[in-house]
Order: sequence, then structure tokens, then C-alpha cells
Amino acid sequence: MTIDVVDWQAAVQAIADSDQAVISCHVHPDGDALGSALALHRALANAGRKPVVSFSEPFMVAPQYRFLPGIEDLTPPDQVSRAADLFVCFDVGSLDRLGSLVDAFEGAVRTVVIDHHASNTRFGDVNLVDPSAPASAVLCRELLRRLGLPLDGDIATALYTALVTDTGRFQYQATVPDTHLLAAELLSAGVDQYEVSKAVFETNDIGYLRLLADVLGRLQQVPAVSLVWTVVSEADLAVHGIDMEQTEGLIDLVRTDGASDVAAVLKEQADGAYKVSLRSKGGANVGQLASAFGGGGHALAAGFTSDAGVEDTLRRIVEGLGAQARDRDRDRDRDGNRARDRDRGR
Ligand code: AMP
Ligand code: MN
Ligand code: MN
Repeated sequence: MTIDVVDWQAAVQAIADSDQAVISCHVHPDGDALGSALALHRALANAGRKPVVSFSEPFMVAPQYRFLPGIEDLTPPDQVSRAADLFVCFDVGSLDRLGSLVDAFEGAVRTVVIDHHASNTRFGDVNLVDPSAPASAVLCRELLRRLGLPLDGDIATALYTALVTDTGRFQYQATVPDTHLLAAELLSAGVDQYEVSKAVFETNDIGYLRLLADVLGRLQQVPAVSLVWTVVSEADLAVHGIDMEQTEGLIDLVRTDGASDVAAVLKEQADGAYKVSLRSKGGANVGQLASAFGGGGHALAAGFTSDAGVEDTLRRIVEGLGAQARDRDRDRDRDGNRARDRDRGR
């Protein structure tokens, strides 16, 4: 871990000193965001504290996460104090990602940011940021240990859900032996792992499966930049009667195109903008690309929102990937020339 012990101590002190911590995560929370926030909430509540857990409008939990223990404890964001003594957030790379809770964060006396995005802007009073962590849940587990708060089955289930989703079921590059050791610890603490798998990975709305047929049917490859992409429109959702929240796993299918390094899914929002999900298998740095477009994320999984239409958004992605490829070629040539010069004894 790359987090300084001083920062851990500051976070532990801030949480120990707080009366009523507000715990939150990013807009449109995924398993890691929700699981980490619910885990700390439950651990503090078990210790007799009065924490509040919430996330931004649209205050809707994706169906696959509704089984999570503690989901009923979520407080609507408009009922969250704008003057809390502490605000803790998980998996939030920049302040804007708190959505309608930005003012609650800004109004809090102290703030703690716990995250694993390389693009994290360190916007808290205390920042526990480790880009090598495969999930924010790993940092949440360590925080609980340092706070002396024990796991129970519900906390373990929330953390396990976070871990299994953010690692793509332990398959992405950030997965290391410690990730499996943590999973083992959580399972030992009482997780019913098949209950999690069933809810998160094995239960789709038939409307979603039919939407997949449409959306995958219009997949397009851009071989010049090793890209595969598709788009989900508001009309697609209406036809099949599903919410955009249910399409989180779509990018995981698109990225399996064996001919492409980068996958992109453009998701139309109610206001006509597009939320863009990007994944790379290691060639391109999509985090850098997304940051250049005002978004963020990790080197291999990132996103941004675009006001341009599909065509212009795609053109920018292709241009960005092209520029990265040219930079990589240039670096390779330079390294090659250096090696050659060295070999010739220059
Ligand atoms: P997603 O494609 O929505 O699953 O997001 C992939 C990664 O990129 C996650 O780590 C997100 O937190 C991050 N991300 C997605 N959209 C944005 C955005 N608009 N701004 C910053 N980070 C984002
Ligand atoms: Mn997340
Ligand atoms: Mn995460």
C-alpha cells in the first residue's frame, strides 16, 4: 500500500472523534462504491455510533445490489446534513462525482476521501488513495482494522460484493494474492458467496437480455485504433423497459472482442448527453483519455460524459487513441535508438 501511516492515523482520529459521520460514494454507485460505504456504516452502527449513509440523486440502487444488507439504511441525499462533523466518501475520484452531495461535503467540518482511482484529485482534508488497490473495499477493510471495528456477516458481504465486482470476479490486472486472501477472510466471516454471485452476475431482466441483442447487434470495430464500440439509447431502454443502471455489465461483454484492445459503450442520458464507459486490455491508457475529456478513472477502466453527439464523441475517442498510439510508437523508436546507440558503444 502506498498510503502514508500519518494519513491512516488522521483518518482513524477523524472517524473516532466524529459524532455523526456522513458516509457516501460516487453517483450511480457500483458494487465497490455501495459496498464500501455500507460496510463502514454498519461497522460504526454496530459500535453504537449514529452514522448516516447516502449517495447522490438519482437516488436509485441498481437492481443487482438491492440484496445488499443495510440497503434499507440509506438516507435520501436531500435529508443529509449540510453541516456534518465528518464526511467520508469511498470510490470518489473528484468532488463533482458526489453529485447532489457536493454541498454536504463542502459543508462538513472534516472530510476523508478513501479511493483507488489514479486520477484522484485528493480533494479531502485527509486522503487515503492507493491506485494499486483493486477496489476501494480493500482500503475500507484496512480502515476497519485500524479502527478496531470487527467484521460481521453483513459487513463481509458488502465488502465481498465490492471486491468481486471491481476485480471483475478476480480477473482484472490489479488482482494480486492479497486480494484472494481478503476474499478468503471475508468468506470466513460469513459471506454466502453464491447469494452474491446470483444477485450480481446471474440475474438479468429478460428486457436486458433482449436489449443486449440489439446493442451487440450494432457493435462496430475501428481496427486502426483497435477499438470496438456500441451505443445504448434512451429509446432502447424504453423499448425493453429497463433502466440505464441495469447496463453496468454491458461493457464487460463488449470488451471480450478478441480483435480489439479498447472497448467503449456510449450511454445516452435523459438530457441527451452520453456517459461513456471505456476499458483497455493494456495497450491504451483509457484513464488518461477520459481525464482529457473531463472524466477520470483507472488506466484500464475509465469514463467521461460527453455533450457532443455519438459521431463527434466517437471521433474524439478515435483521435485520442490515435495520438496515444503515435506517442507509444515514438517512445518505442526512441528506446530502440538508444539501445542501438549503446550497442554501438556511443
Ligand atoms: P464505468 O465505465 O462507469 O464502470 O466507470 C469505469 C471507471 O471510470 C470507474 O472507476 C469510474 O469511477 C470512472 N468513471 C466513470 N465515469 C466517470 C466520470 N464521468 N468522471 C470520473 N470518473 C469516471
Ligand atoms: Mn466505482
Ligand atoms: Mn472502485
